[in-house]
Amino acid sequence: MVDENKQEKTWSPSYLREPQLLLRATAFHEAGHAVVGYRYGKFVRDNGIRIDFIRPGLGNCHTRGEYLFPLQQVGDSMMRGAQVKRLRSECIESLAGHAAEFRAMAIRKWVTLECPDTRRALELIKSVRECGEQTAMLELEWTYVPATRRMVRDQAIWQGIETVAKELLKADGFLSSDKANSILENTGVIQVSPTYWR
Ligand SMILES: [Zn+2]
Repeated sequence: MVDENKQEKTWSPSYLREPQLLLRATAFHEAGHAVVGYRYGKFVRDNGIRIDFIRPGLGNCHTRGEYLFPLQQVGDSMMRGAQVKRLRSECIESLAGHAAEFRAMAIRKWVTLECPDTRRALELIKSVRECGEQTAMLELEWTYVPATRRMVRDQAIWQGIETVAKELLKADGFLSSDKANSILENTGVIQVSPTYWR
């Protein structure tokens, strides 16, 4: 795993240099965040879903904003359990972009820590678990990355991701939050009640 990360620093798949493929990769990336976020009870908010045409390969899917506290600071054990569930869903949502992108582009590699999504998941684990980088990295690799891959392989989730990515490309790279949420509602992806958000 560690060696793989070293290699990834110079890793650059050919689709990064082909504009049409890069567009497709970005659409699947953002769709991955949107559908997995939806699965965890979140809706697309504010700025909707957008592919950034000025900076190729970048995009934005606005569902974020949840705030997590260190487990020690969270009251009783039920609340702590809820916090762990939230940590799980936040991390998986964050990693879902690359999981969807790589599946769409038939890439078997995993991401590097230079990627902000992976970095964000790692920082969340560190702050909620109050652990160091290495422990967080193990948890990320052995718990959250496999869980994200499993989720993206789920048939309904993958079909949902394909639908959102297709609609995003059809709409020239922008779906408003209303439009995105109505597409999500029709995908057949079951939304899990977000009661543990609070
Ligand atoms: Zn992302």
